[in-house]
Amino acid sequence: MSFDFDLFVIGAGSGGVRTARFAAGFGARVAVAESRYLGGTCVNVGCVPKKMLVYGAHYSEDLEQAQAYGWSAGEPAFDWPTLITHKNAAITRLNEVYRDLLTQCGVKLFEGHARLVDPHTVEINGERFSAEHLLLATGTWPTVPDIPGKEHAITSNEAFFLEALPRRAAVIGAGYIAVEFASIFNGLGVLTSEICRRDLFLRGFDRGIREHLREELTKKGVDLRFKTQVTRIDKQADGSLALTLDDGSTLETDLVMFATGRVPKLDDLGLENTRVELDERGFIRVDEHYVTTEPSILALGDVIGRVQLTPVATAEGMAVARRLFKPEQYRPVDYRRIPTAVFSLPSIGTVGLTEDEALLDGHNITVYESRFGTLKLALTDSNEKTMMRLIVDADTDEVLGVHMVGADAGEIIQGMAIALKAGATKRMFDDTIGIHPTSAEEFVTMR
Ligand code: FAD
Ligand code: NDP
Repeated sequence: MSFDFDLFVIGAGSGGVRTARFAAGFGARVAVAESRYLGGTCVNVGCVPKKMLVYGAHYSEDLEQAQAYGWSAGEPAFDWPTLITHKNAAITRLNEVYRDLLTQCGVKLFEGHARLVDPHTVEINGERFSAEHLLLATGTWPTVPDIPGKEHAITSNEAFFLEALPRRAAVIGAGYIAVEFASIFNGLGVLTSEICRRDLFLRGFDRGIREHLREELTKKGVDLRFKTQVTRIDKQADGSLALTLDDGSTLETDLVMFATGRVPKLDDLGLENTRVELDERGFIRVDEHYVTTEPSILALGDVIGRVQLTPVATAEGMAVARRLFKPEQYRPVDYRRIPTAVFSLPSIGTVGLTEDEALLDGHNITVYESRFGTLKLALTDSNEKTMMRLIVDADTDEVLGVHMVGADAGEIIQGMAIALKAGATKRMFDDTIGIHPTSAEEFVTMR
Protein backbone atom coordinates (compact mmCIF):
# COMPACT_ATOMS: atom_id res chain seq x y z
CA MET A 1 0.00 0.00 0.00
CA SER A 2 1.36 3.45 -0.83
CA PHE A 3 0.94 6.41 1.51
CA ASP A 4 1.28 10.15 1.01
CA PHE A 5 3.80 10.30 3.89
CA ASP A 6 5.91 7.90 5.91
CA LEU A 7 5.14 9.87 9.09
CA PHE A 8 2.39 12.41 9.83
CA VAL A 9 2.96 14.25 13.12
CA ILE A 10 0.09 16.07 14.84
CA GLY A 11 1.49 18.85 17.02
CA ALA A 12 4.56 21.04 16.36
CA GLY A 13 5.65 21.23 19.98
CA SER A 14 8.87 20.00 21.59
CA GLY A 15 8.22 16.33 20.88
CA GLY A 16 6.57 16.61 17.47
CA VAL A 17 9.16 18.94 15.96
CA ARG A 18 12.09 16.85 17.18
CA THR A 19 10.59 13.63 15.81
CA ALA A 20 9.77 15.25 12.46
CA ARG A 21 13.20 16.79 12.01
CA PHE A 22 15.05 13.60 12.88
CA ALA A 23 12.76 11.45 10.73
CA ALA A 24 13.16 13.79 7.76
CA GLY A 25 16.92 13.81 8.33
CA PHE A 26 16.86 10.02 8.05
CA GLY A 27 15.17 10.33 4.65
CA ALA A 28 11.53 9.80 5.64
CA ARG A 29 8.69 11.73 3.96
CA VAL A 30 7.29 13.69 6.89
CA ALA A 31 4.36 16.06 7.47
CA VAL A 32 3.55 18.09 10.59
CA ALA A 33 0.21 19.69 11.48
CA GLU A 34 0.03 22.55 13.98
CA SER A 35 -3.20 24.28 14.96
CA ARG A 36 -1.98 27.04 17.25
CA TYR A 37 1.70 27.97 17.47
CA LEU A 38 4.98 26.59 16.13
CA GLY A 39 7.18 25.32 18.94
CA GLY A 40 4.18 24.34 21.07
CA THR A 41 3.74 25.01 24.75
CA CYS A 42 7.42 25.33 25.66
CA VAL A 43 8.17 28.06 23.14
CA ASN A 44 4.92 29.99 23.35
CA VAL A 45 3.38 29.64 26.81
CA GLY A 46 5.87 27.54 28.75
CA CYS A 47 9.58 27.17 29.44
CA VAL A 48 10.89 29.96 27.24
CA PRO A 49 8.60 32.94 28.02
CA LYS A 50 8.43 31.75 31.64
CA LYS A 51 12.20 31.95 31.98
CA MET A 52 12.13 35.44 30.44
CA LEU A 53 9.63 36.54 33.09
CA VAL A 54 11.78 34.95 35.79
CA TYR A 55 14.81 36.90 34.56
CA GLY A 56 12.66 40.03 34.54
CA ALA A 57 11.49 39.40 38.08
CA HIS A 58 15.03 38.87 39.38
CA TYR A 59 16.10 42.34 38.28
CA SER A 60 14.24 43.84 41.26
CA GLU A 61 16.76 42.15 43.58
CA ASP A 62 19.69 42.74 41.24
CA LEU A 63 19.02 46.48 41.08
CA GLU A 64 18.68 46.73 44.85
CA GLN A 65 21.83 44.70 45.48
CA ALA A 66 23.82 46.62 42.87
CA GLN A 67 23.80 49.60 45.24
CA ALA A 68 25.97 47.66 47.70
CA TYR A 69 28.48 47.34 44.88
CA GLY A 70 28.51 51.09 44.40
CA TRP A 71 26.05 51.37 41.55
CA SER A 72 23.27 53.91 41.50
CA ALA A 73 20.91 54.40 38.60
CA GLY A 74 18.05 56.38 40.00
CA GLU A 75 14.80 55.04 41.39
CA PRO A 76 14.09 51.64 39.75
CA ALA A 77 10.80 51.49 37.87
CA PHE A 78 9.26 48.50 36.15
CA ASP A 79 7.13 48.58 33.00
CA TRP A 80 5.25 45.33 32.34
CA PRO A 81 4.19 46.20 28.74
CA THR A 82 7.86 46.64 27.79
CA LEU A 83 8.73 43.18 29.11
CA ILE A 84 5.73 41.58 27.39
CA THR A 85 6.33 43.37 24.07
CA HIS A 86 9.97 42.27 24.01
CA LYS A 87 9.02 38.75 25.08
CA ASN A 88 6.39 38.53 22.33
CA ALA A 89 8.87 39.73 19.71
CA ALA A 90 11.43 37.13 20.81
CA ILE A 91 8.81 34.39 20.67
CA THR A 92 7.67 35.46 17.19
CA ARG A 93 11.31 35.17 16.06
CA LEU A 94 11.47 31.71 17.60
CA ASN A 95 8.26 30.66 15.80
CA GLU A 96 10.00 31.52 12.53
CA VAL A 97 13.12 29.61 13.59
CA TYR A 98 10.90 26.57 14.13
CA ARG A 99 9.23 27.06 10.74
CA ASP A 100 12.66 27.19 9.06
CA LEU A 101 13.90 24.18 11.02
CA LEU A 102 11.01 22.12 9.72
CA THR A 103 10.82 23.32 6.13
CA GLN A 104 14.60 23.36 5.57
CA CYS A 105 14.85 19.66 6.35
CA GLY A 106 12.02 18.90 3.95
CA VAL A 107 9.10 18.51 6.36
CA LYS A 108 5.73 19.51 4.86
CA LEU A 109 4.02 21.86 7.33
CA PHE A 110 0.25 22.19 7.55
CA GLU A 111 -1.19 24.96 9.72
CA GLY A 112 -4.61 23.98 11.04
CA HIS A 113 -6.42 21.53 13.29
CA ALA A 114 -5.72 17.91 12.42
CA ARG A 115 -8.19 15.10 12.98
CA LEU A 116 -7.81 11.35 12.60
CA VAL A 117 -10.18 9.85 10.05
CA ASP A 118 -8.92 6.27 10.31
CA PRO A 119 -5.68 4.60 11.53
CA HIS A 120 -3.74 5.84 8.50
CA THR A 121 -5.57 9.04 7.50
CA VAL A 122 -5.52 12.62 8.79
CA GLU A 123 -7.90 15.40 7.79
CA ILE A 124 -6.66 18.99 7.90
CA ASN A 125 -8.10 22.14 6.34
CA GLY A 126 -10.61 19.99 4.41
CA GLU A 127 -7.93 17.78 2.83
CA ARG A 128 -7.08 14.17 3.65
CA PHE A 129 -3.59 12.65 3.75
CA SER A 130 -2.47 9.11 4.38
CA ALA A 131 0.62 8.06 6.28
CA GLU A 132 2.20 4.77 7.26
CA HIS A 133 2.75 6.07 10.80
CA LEU A 134 0.78 8.78 12.61
CA LEU A 135 2.26 10.48 15.67
CA LEU A 136 0.14 12.22 18.30
CA ALA A 137 2.21 14.90 20.04
CA THR A 138 -0.64 17.20 21.01
CA GLY A 139 0.52 18.14 24.51
CA THR A 140 -1.64 19.24 27.42
CA TRP A 141 -3.91 22.10 28.44
CA PRO A 142 -4.51 23.68 31.87
CA THR A 143 -7.37 22.33 33.94
CA VAL A 144 -9.13 24.29 36.69
CA PRO A 145 -11.34 23.11 39.55
CA ASP A 146 -15.07 23.48 39.01
CA ILE A 147 -15.85 26.12 41.65
CA PRO A 148 -18.27 29.08 41.54
CA GLY A 149 -16.54 32.09 40.01
CA LYS A 150 -13.82 30.10 38.20
CA GLU A 151 -14.54 32.23 35.10
CA HIS A 152 -12.96 35.21 36.90
CA ALA A 153 -9.62 33.39 37.08
CA ILE A 154 -6.86 32.91 34.52
CA THR A 155 -4.28 30.17 33.91
CA SER A 156 -0.63 30.43 32.93
CA ASN A 157 -1.74 30.65 29.28
CA GLU A 158 -3.26 34.09 29.88
CA ALA A 159 -0.67 35.24 32.43
CA PHE A 160 1.86 35.57 29.61
CA PHE A 161 -0.31 38.15 27.86
CA LEU A 162 -1.76 40.28 30.68
CA GLU A 163 -2.19 43.87 29.56
CA ALA A 164 -1.28 45.20 32.98
CA LEU A 165 0.30 43.77 36.07
CA PRO A 166 -2.19 43.56 38.96
CA ARG A 167 -1.46 45.15 42.33
CA ARG A 168 -2.31 41.86 44.07
CA ALA A 169 -2.37 38.27 42.78
CA ALA A 170 -3.33 34.88 44.18
CA VAL A 171 -1.84 31.76 42.61
CA ILE A 172 -3.71 28.53 43.37
CA GLY A 173 -1.71 25.32 43.17
CA ALA A 174 1.47 23.78 44.47
CA GLY A 175 3.33 22.44 41.42
CA TYR A 176 6.07 23.86 39.23
CA ILE A 177 3.84 26.45 37.55
CA ALA A 178 2.31 27.77 40.77
CA VAL A 179 5.64 28.21 42.52
CA GLU A 180 7.29 29.78 39.49
CA PHE A 181 4.48 32.28 38.89
CA ALA A 182 4.24 33.15 42.58
CA SER A 183 7.95 34.03 42.33
CA ILE A 184 7.47 35.99 39.11
CA PHE A 185 4.59 38.08 40.44
CA ASN A 186 6.31 38.64 43.77
CA GLY A 187 9.59 39.62 42.13
CA LEU A 188 7.78 42.13 39.94
CA GLY A 189 6.33 43.83 43.00
CA VAL A 190 2.85 42.29 43.02
CA LEU A 191 1.47 41.46 46.49
CA THR A 192 1.38 37.71 45.97
CA SER A 193 -0.39 34.87 47.75
CA GLU A 194 -0.02 31.19 46.92
CA ILE A 195 -2.73 28.80 48.06
CA CYS A 196 -1.83 25.12 48.38
CA ARG A 197 -4.21 22.38 49.44
CA ARG A 198 -1.60 20.25 51.26
CA ASP A 199 0.89 21.05 54.03
CA LEU A 200 3.66 21.99 51.59
CA PHE A 201 4.18 22.65 47.89
CA LEU A 202 6.15 20.67 45.27
CA ARG A 203 5.04 17.21 46.30
CA GLY A 204 7.58 14.65 45.09
CA PHE A 205 10.61 16.93 45.58
CA ASP A 206 13.02 16.44 48.48
CA ARG A 207 11.36 17.58 51.70
CA GLY A 208 14.42 19.46 52.96
CA ILE A 209 14.48 21.45 49.74
CA ARG A 210 10.73 22.14 49.84
CA GLU A 211 10.96 23.41 53.41
CA HIS A 212 13.93 25.58 52.56
CA LEU A 213 12.09 27.13 49.60
CA ARG A 214 9.10 27.80 51.85
CA GLU A 215 11.38 29.77 54.19
CA GLU A 216 12.96 31.72 51.35
CA LEU A 217 9.66 32.61 49.67
CA THR A 218 8.26 33.68 53.03
CA LYS A 219 11.31 35.90 53.61
CA LYS A 220 10.75 37.46 50.20
CA GLY A 221 7.20 38.32 51.17
CA VAL A 222 5.06 35.69 49.41
CA ASP A 223 1.92 35.06 51.48
CA LEU A 224 1.94 31.24 51.56
CA ARG A 225 -1.27 29.56 52.66
CA PHE A 226 -1.11 25.79 53.12
CA LYS A 227 -3.76 23.16 53.84
CA THR A 228 -6.54 25.22 52.37
CA GLN A 229 -8.58 25.39 49.17
CA VAL A 230 -10.49 28.14 47.44
CA THR A 231 -14.18 27.27 47.36
CA ARG A 232 -15.52 30.32 45.49
CA ILE A 233 -14.42 33.49 43.73
CA ASP A 234 -16.68 36.57 43.78
CA LYS A 235 -16.15 39.63 41.66
CA GLN A 236 -16.69 42.80 43.69
CA ALA A 237 -18.18 46.08 42.51
CA ASP A 238 -14.71 47.68 42.32
CA GLY A 239 -13.44 44.87 40.08
CA SER A 240 -11.40 43.14 42.77
CA LEU A 241 -11.88 39.43 43.51
CA ALA A 242 -12.93 37.99 46.87
CA LEU A 243 -11.77 34.44 47.54
CA THR A 244 -13.51 32.19 50.05
CA LEU A 245 -11.27 29.45 51.47
CA ASP A 246 -12.34 26.24 53.16
CA ASP A 247 -10.39 27.02 56.35
CA GLY A 248 -12.82 29.87 57.02
CA SER A 249 -10.46 32.59 55.81
CA THR A 250 -10.97 35.02 52.94
CA LEU A 251 -8.61 36.83 50.62
CA GLU A 252 -9.11 39.91 48.50
CA THR A 253 -7.02 40.16 45.37
CA ASP A 254 -7.00 41.55 41.83
CA LEU A 255 -5.96 38.49 39.86
CA VAL A 256 -6.48 34.78 40.45
CA MET A 257 -4.34 32.30 38.54
CA PHE A 258 -5.05 28.58 38.66
CA ALA A 259 -2.01 26.33 38.32
CA THR A 260 -3.81 23.15 39.27
CA GLY A 261 -2.45 20.77 36.67
CA ARG A 262 -2.81 20.03 32.98
CA VAL A 263 -4.84 17.47 31.02
CA PRO A 264 -4.06 15.86 27.64
CA LYS A 265 -5.18 17.85 24.60
CA LEU A 266 -7.42 15.46 22.69
CA ASP A 267 -10.37 17.62 21.64
CA ASP A 268 -11.79 16.79 18.22
CA LEU A 269 -8.76 14.61 17.50
CA GLY A 270 -10.90 11.80 16.06
CA LEU A 271 -9.62 9.13 18.44
CA GLU A 272 -13.03 7.47 18.15
CA ASN A 273 -12.12 6.55 14.55
CA THR A 274 -9.22 4.45 15.83
CA ARG A 275 -8.50 1.88 18.51
CA VAL A 276 -6.33 4.32 20.50
CA GLU A 277 -7.04 3.88 24.21
CA LEU A 278 -6.52 6.21 27.15
CA ASP A 279 -5.07 5.20 30.51
CA GLU A 280 -6.91 5.56 33.82
CA ARG A 281 -5.73 9.21 34.11
CA GLY A 282 -6.98 10.08 30.61
CA PHE A 283 -3.55 10.21 28.90
CA ILE A 284 -2.84 8.22 25.71
CA ARG A 285 -1.76 4.69 26.50
CA VAL A 286 1.47 3.61 24.77
CA ASP A 287 3.91 0.72 24.99
CA GLU A 288 7.68 0.97 25.49
CA HIS A 289 8.06 2.09 21.85
CA TYR A 290 5.40 4.83 22.14
CA VAL A 291 3.01 2.75 20.04
CA THR A 292 -0.63 3.21 21.05
CA THR A 293 -3.21 0.41 21.10
CA GLU A 294 -3.64 1.19 17.37
CA PRO A 295 -0.43 -0.20 15.79
CA SER A 296 -0.02 2.52 13.12
CA ILE A 297 -0.43 5.36 15.65
CA LEU A 298 2.26 6.51 18.07
CA ALA A 299 2.15 9.14 20.82
CA LEU A 300 4.76 10.91 22.92
CA GLY A 301 5.47 13.95 25.07
CA ASP A 302 3.04 15.45 27.54
CA VAL A 303 0.03 13.72 25.98
CA ILE A 304 1.25 10.33 27.29
CA GLY A 305 1.59 11.80 30.79
CA ARG A 306 4.91 10.24 31.78
CA VAL A 307 7.29 13.10 32.54
CA GLN A 308 6.01 16.47 31.33
CA LEU A 309 9.30 18.15 30.49
CA THR A 310 10.60 19.42 27.17
CA PRO A 311 13.89 17.48 27.17
CA VAL A 312 11.92 14.29 27.86
CA ALA A 313 9.55 14.97 24.93
CA THR A 314 12.52 15.60 22.63
CA ALA A 315 14.32 12.46 23.84
CA GLU A 316 11.18 10.44 23.15
CA GLY A 317 10.97 12.03 19.70
CA MET A 318 14.53 11.03 18.85
CA ALA A 319 13.87 7.47 20.05
CA VAL A 320 10.78 7.20 17.84
CA ALA A 321 12.46 8.67 14.76
CA ARG A 322 15.48 6.40 15.14
CA ARG A 323 13.48 3.25 15.79
CA LEU A 324 11.27 3.82 12.73
CA PHE A 325 13.77 5.21 10.26
CA LYS A 326 17.33 4.53 11.53
CA PRO A 327 16.99 1.43 13.72
CA GLU A 328 20.76 0.90 13.96
CA GLN A 329 20.97 4.16 15.95
CA TYR A 330 17.99 3.38 18.24
CA ARG A 331 18.46 3.83 21.98
CA PRO A 332 15.54 3.72 24.43
CA VAL A 333 14.93 6.74 26.64
CA ASP A 334 16.40 6.30 30.11
CA TYR A 335 13.83 7.71 32.55
CA ARG A 336 16.06 7.21 35.59
CA ARG A 337 17.67 10.23 37.21
CA ILE A 338 16.03 12.91 35.07
CA PRO A 339 17.35 16.25 36.32
CA THR A 340 14.90 19.10 36.65
CA ALA A 341 14.76 22.69 37.83
CA VAL A 342 11.97 24.80 39.28
CA PHE A 343 12.61 28.39 38.25
CA SER A 344 11.33 29.88 41.44
CA LEU A 345 13.28 32.73 43.05
CA PRO A 346 15.48 31.24 44.42
CA SER A 347 15.46 28.28 42.06
CA ILE A 348 15.52 24.55 42.72
CA GLY A 349 17.74 22.07 40.89
CA THR A 350 17.43 18.38 41.56
CA VAL A 351 18.45 14.97 40.27
CA GLY A 352 18.10 11.48 41.65
CA LEU A 353 16.37 10.17 44.74
CA THR A 354 14.92 12.37 47.44
CA GLU A 355 15.69 11.48 51.05
CA ASP A 356 12.24 9.88 51.45
CA GLU A 357 12.53 7.91 48.20
CA ALA A 358 15.96 6.58 49.18
CA LEU A 359 14.60 5.41 52.53
CA LEU A 360 11.52 3.88 50.89
CA ASP A 361 13.80 2.01 48.46
CA GLY A 362 15.51 0.46 51.51
CA HIS A 363 18.80 2.33 51.22
CA ASN A 364 20.83 2.92 54.36
CA ILE A 365 21.60 6.59 53.75
CA THR A 366 23.78 9.44 54.91
CA VAL A 367 22.49 12.93 54.17
CA TYR A 368 24.99 15.76 53.72
CA GLU A 369 23.51 19.20 53.95
CA SER A 370 24.86 22.72 53.70
CA ARG A 371 23.17 26.12 54.10
CA PHE A 372 25.08 29.28 53.41
CA GLY A 373 24.85 32.84 52.18
CA THR A 374 26.60 33.22 48.82
CA LEU A 375 29.64 35.43 48.34
CA LYS A 376 27.71 37.62 45.92
CA LEU A 377 25.25 38.53 48.65
CA ALA A 378 27.93 39.13 51.31
CA LEU A 379 28.09 42.84 50.51
CA THR A 380 24.33 43.24 50.45
CA ASP A 381 21.48 43.24 52.96
CA SER A 382 20.02 40.05 51.47
CA ASN A 383 19.58 37.21 53.92
CA GLU A 384 18.84 34.65 51.18
CA LYS A 385 20.38 31.30 51.96
CA THR A 386 21.45 28.64 49.49
CA MET A 387 20.84 25.01 50.44
CA MET A 388 22.52 21.91 49.07
CA ARG A 389 21.82 18.30 49.94
CA LEU A 390 23.52 15.07 48.95
CA ILE A 391 21.75 11.77 49.57
CA VAL A 392 24.38 9.03 49.75
CA ASP A 393 24.05 5.27 50.08
CA ALA A 394 26.05 4.59 53.26
CA ASP A 395 26.81 1.00 52.20
CA THR A 396 27.93 1.50 48.60
CA ASP A 397 28.96 5.19 48.85
CA GLU A 398 26.92 5.90 45.66
CA VAL A 399 25.44 9.38 45.47
CA LEU A 400 21.73 8.73 45.05
CA GLY A 401 20.43 12.28 44.92
CA VAL A 402 21.68 15.86 44.56
CA HIS A 403 19.32 18.69 45.49
CA MET A 404 19.76 22.41 45.70
CA VAL A 405 17.90 25.67 46.30
CA GLY A 406 19.79 28.76 45.23
CA ALA A 407 20.98 30.90 42.37
CA ASP A 408 21.65 29.02 39.12
CA ALA A 409 20.53 25.70 40.61
CA GLY A 410 19.55 24.34 37.18
CA GLU A 411 22.92 25.26 35.71
CA ILE A 412 24.77 23.51 38.54
CA ILE A 413 22.62 20.39 38.68
CA GLN A 414 22.95 19.64 34.94
CA GLY A 415 26.59 18.64 35.53
CA MET A 416 25.69 16.73 38.68
CA ALA A 417 23.22 14.70 36.59
CA ILE A 418 26.06 13.43 34.41
CA ALA A 419 27.99 12.43 37.53
CA LEU A 420 25.01 10.50 38.87
CA LYS A 421 24.43 8.80 35.50
CA ALA A 422 28.06 7.72 35.64
CA GLY A 423 27.43 6.19 39.09
CA ALA A 424 29.53 8.69 41.04
CA THR A 425 30.33 7.91 44.66
CA LYS A 426 30.70 10.38 47.52
CA ARG A 427 34.43 9.59 47.45
CA MET A 428 34.57 10.79 43.83
CA PHE A 429 32.82 13.99 44.83
CA ASP A 430 35.36 14.38 47.66
CA ASP A 431 38.29 13.72 45.32
CA THR A 432 37.10 16.35 42.85
CA ILE A 433 38.86 19.69 43.16
CA GLY A 434 36.44 22.55 43.63
CA ILE A 435 36.23 25.72 41.57
CA HIS A 436 36.82 28.58 43.95
CA PRO A 437 35.05 30.78 44.81
CA THR A 438 31.74 29.37 43.61
CA SER A 439 28.61 28.03 45.26
CA ALA A 440 28.92 24.79 43.29
CA GLU A 441 32.21 23.90 45.01
CA GLU A 442 30.19 23.21 48.15
CA PHE A 443 29.05 19.97 46.52
CA VAL A 444 32.65 18.66 46.60
CA THR A 445 33.55 19.95 50.05
CA MET A 446 30.62 18.65 52.13
CA ARG A 447 31.88 16.37 54.88
P1 FAD B 1 3.41 20.73 23.36
O1 FAD B 1 4.65 21.50 23.42
O2 FAD B 1 2.28 21.16 24.22
O3 FAD B 1 2.95 20.75 21.83
C1 FAD B 1 1.72 20.24 21.40
C2 FAD B 1 1.31 20.99 20.14
O4 FAD B 1 0.25 20.28 19.51
C3 FAD B 1 0.76 22.38 20.44
O5 FAD B 1 1.47 23.34 19.71
C4 FAD B 1 -0.70 22.30 20.03
O6 FAD B 1 -1.20 23.52 19.51
C5 FAD B 1 -0.66 21.22 18.97
N1 FAD B 1 -1.94 20.53 18.75
C6 FAD B 1 -2.74 19.98 19.69
N2 FAD B 1 -3.79 19.38 19.11
C7 FAD B 1 -3.64 19.57 17.77
C8 FAD B 1 -4.42 19.17 16.63
N3 FAD B 1 -5.52 18.42 16.76
N4 FAD B 1 -3.99 19.54 15.41
C9 FAD B 1 -2.85 20.27 15.25
N5 FAD B 1 -2.08 20.65 16.28
C10 FAD B 1 -2.48 20.30 17.53
N6 FAD B 1 9.35 22.03 30.67
C11 FAD B 1 10.66 22.11 30.91
O7 FAD B 1 11.41 21.17 30.60
N7 FAD B 1 11.22 23.24 31.49
C12 FAD B 1 10.46 24.30 31.84
O8 FAD B 1 10.99 25.30 32.36
C13 FAD B 1 9.07 24.24 31.60
N8 FAD B 1 8.29 25.28 31.92
C14 FAD B 1 6.95 25.22 31.65
C15 FAD B 1 6.16 26.31 32.00
C16 FAD B 1 4.81 26.29 31.75
C17 FAD B 1 3.96 27.47 32.14
C18 FAD B 1 4.23 25.14 31.12
C19 FAD B 1 2.77 25.12 30.82
C20 FAD B 1 5.01 24.05 30.78
C21 FAD B 1 6.38 24.07 31.04
N9 FAD B 1 7.21 23.00 30.73
C22 FAD B 1 8.54 23.07 31.00
C23 FAD B 1 6.66 21.78 30.13
C24 FAD B 1 6.90 21.74 28.60
O9 FAD B 1 6.37 22.92 28.03
C25 FAD B 1 6.23 20.52 28.01
O10 FAD B 1 6.71 19.36 28.66
C26 FAD B 1 6.50 20.40 26.51
O11 FAD B 1 6.06 21.52 25.82
C27 FAD B 1 5.78 19.15 25.97
O12 FAD B 1 5.98 19.05 24.59
P2 FAD B 1 4.92 18.27 23.68
O13 FAD B 1 5.51 18.22 22.31
O14 FAD B 1 4.51 17.02 24.31
O15 FAD B 1 3.61 19.20 23.68
P1 NDP C 1 1.68 19.84 38.49
O1 NDP C 1 1.05 18.56 38.14
O2 NDP C 1 3.13 19.90 38.73
O3 NDP C 1 0.98 20.47 39.74
C1 NDP C 1 -0.39 20.61 39.81
C2 NDP C 1 -0.67 21.16 41.18
O4 NDP C 1 -2.05 21.46 41.28
C3 NDP C 1 -0.34 20.20 42.29
O5 NDP C 1 0.47 20.89 43.18
C4 NDP C 1 -1.68 19.86 42.90
O6 NDP C 1 -1.62 19.81 44.29
C5 NDP C 1 -2.49 21.08 42.56
N1 NDP C 1 -3.92 20.85 42.45
C6 NDP C 1 -4.56 19.99 41.65
N2 NDP C 1 -5.89 20.11 41.80
C7 NDP C 1 -6.09 21.08 42.73
C8 NDP C 1 -7.24 21.66 43.31
N3 NDP C 1 -8.46 21.26 42.97
N4 NDP C 1 -7.06 22.63 44.23
C9 NDP C 1 -5.83 23.04 44.59
N5 NDP C 1 -4.70 22.53 44.07
C10 NDP C 1 -4.83 21.55 43.14
O7 NDP C 1 1.20 20.79 37.31
P2 NDP C 1 1.62 22.18 36.80
O8 NDP C 1 0.38 22.66 36.16
O9 NDP C 1 2.29 23.02 37.82
O10 NDP C 1 2.70 21.82 35.69
C11 NDP C 1 2.44 20.81 34.71
C12 NDP C 1 3.72 20.14 34.35
O11 NDP C 1 4.48 20.98 33.49
C13 NDP C 1 4.64 19.87 35.53
O12 NDP C 1 4.32 18.68 36.17
C14 NDP C 1 5.99 19.83 34.89
O13 NDP C 1 6.26 18.53 34.44
C15 NDP C 1 5.85 20.79 33.73
N6 NDP C 1 6.49 22.06 34.09
C16 NDP C 1 7.84 22.08 34.23
C17 NDP C 1 8.48 23.23 34.61
C18 NDP C 1 9.95 23.21 34.77
O14 NDP C 1 10.60 22.31 34.28
N7 NDP C 1 10.54 24.19 35.43
C19 NDP C 1 7.75 24.46 34.85
C20 NDP C 1 6.33 24.34 34.67
C21 NDP C 1 5.74 23.18 34.30
P3 NDP C 1 -1.11 18.54 45.13
O15 NDP C 1 0.35 18.43 44.91
O16 NDP C 1 -1.48 18.91 46.48
O17 NDP C 1 -1.88 17.37 44.57
